[in-house]
Amino acid sequence: MFKYETHLHTSEVSACANASGAAQARFYKSKGYTGIIVTDHFFNGNSTIPHDLSWAEKVERFCAGYENARKCGEEIGIDVFFGWEYSYKGSDFLTYGLDKEWLMRNPVIMEMDVNSYCDYVRDNGGIIIHAHPFREASYISMIRLLPRKCDGVEIVNSNRTELENRMAAIYAENYGMLPFAGSDNHTAAQERLNGVSFESPITDMADFNDRIKNKKYRLF
Ligand SMILES: [Zn+2]
Ligand SMILES: [Zn+2]
Repeated sequence: MFKYETHLHTSEVSACANASGAAQARFYKSKGYTGIIVTDHFFNGNSTIPHDLSWAEKVERFCAGYENARKCGEEIGIDVFFGWEYSYKGSDFLTYGLDKEWLMRNPVIMEMDVNSYCDYVRDNGGIIIHAHPFREASYISMIRLLPRKCDGVEIVNSNRTELENRMAAIYAENYGMLPFAGSDNHTAAQERLNGVSFESPITDMADFNDRIKNKKYRLF
């Protein structure tokens, strides 16, 4: 099986991360992974990107963690892909299958409410995975569920409690949502790692999304 990290952060873009994109690529290479998807906190999350820049400049800077990881990955032999973690009041939505050029063309997403954002992403070929939906924290006022707006649910997040993950699995199963797993790695030193694996390497994020939607993957 070929292993992939689906949820990780870089210090270039995520204010809460302390590992660079290159450090993340090296870490997962050392663990025998075939690939990683960089999912930094988006502009509405815990981001390092100043709000007063132009849209193009913000997108450019947002891609820096991914691009540094990818450059390193090309040198050491690990595939690096792009995604992001969109936030709404502490609820987080992993977004896969759309790229930098798509972001450049779509500043309109910042004017949408969270429901419209999910619809728009999916209409444009992306998929939405609700990250750690039962996470509890002081800055999250309530648990929000959007079962009709998401393709899947992170039922295993390495940094969440057994209760939070168990409730997410019950949620996903009862609503027929795709089960998903990721590490939410902010450090490139995390011991517990979870993700998805495939029988052959993925070629790009469109291939990734197809295999996820067709349930041709396993969780670990
Ligand atoms: Zn974070
Ligand atoms: Zn995250």
